[in-house]
Amino acid sequence: MGTIDYIYRFDPDKPEDDSLPSTPAEARRALEEGNRLFAGWIESCRASAVEEAREAYVIPWHGLVLDYEHPPRQAPFAVVLGCADARVPIEMVFGQASNDLFVVRVAGNVLADVCMGSIDYALSMLSDSVKCVVVLGHLNCGAVTETVNAYLHPAEITAKTQAFGIRTIVQKIFTSVKVSDDAIHRVWGPDAMHHHAYHKALIEVSVCVNAAQAALDLRMEVKRSGRREIEVVYGVFDLVSHQVSMPVNPHVPASAMKINLATAPLGAAGVNRLADRMAELLKPRSRAGSRPSVDGQDPQPTVDEAKSQP
Ligand SMILES: [Zn+2]
Repeated sequence: MGTIDYIYRFDPDKPEDDSLPSTPAEARRALEEGNRLFAGWIESCRASAVEEAREAYVIPWHGLVLDYEHPPRQAPFAVVLGCADARVPIEMVFGQASNDLFVVRVAGNVLADVCMGSIDYALSMLSDSVKCVVVLGHLNCGAVTETVNAYLHPAEITAKTQAFGIRTIVQKIFTSVKVSDDAIHRVWGPDAMHHHAYHKALIEVSVCVNAAQAALDLRMEVKRSGRREIEVVYGVFDLVSHQVSMPVNPHVPASAMKINLATAPLGAAGVNRLADRMAELLKPRSRAGSRPSVDGQDPQPTVDEAKSQP
């Protein structure tokens, strides 16, 4: 059986990059295409028992400076705020090479002061190259899970959660958990928390809302910095499918078409709409093959549904 390589490739005949994204739309497309490449490679690895799955996945490393004296000029086309989780390697997730992304990673992808300072630096000092800002949350996030547990069982807050460093992160995520819990109760009904699916759903909705909230905060910051042309988008990485999408629709099977980044909400109402949407998507089905909606209709999930904006 052959290997399935994930390759960084430098082409001496074309050392300079002439295809860097020049607009926010191109930047977003490059990130989505990069994630398709990465998720496709993982899928090929899964199918490695099949000979035909052998395929090369190549990431061009443009602008590799071979000069022995001068470092390359920093020129990322996107700023990414992501979680520190070791299973979410940002450049790999988006199929990008060195100098493509300005990455800020912190547990729970929370927007702490020092993170904001790093992003402000990128927006002001790397303004020639940066075209978009991305918030990337992920399913099964430990920081969000800890916050959900602290929210549901405040009397059992552990010494771990009480520690100063972790507590600052939990506090940042807490509001997103409350917004998500309210949405689940609105959509599922007053007995929501007695359902066996409630705990997992609260974590998943909170992951999405937490990313959306950070994207909203960053949108405001970008606006304040006067860089209105920069787009702020967000998505959530699925540790199983390795795909980035928003909203995260469990009823749509993993496919290249499912991958998408969503535009940051315009305000708190947009965050609440996303919370309701996720609560609806995660609402337990009442019978096989059906998924009642809040208004009593019974919509069938489509790929379009997965790609729509909150
Ligand atoms: Zn995480």
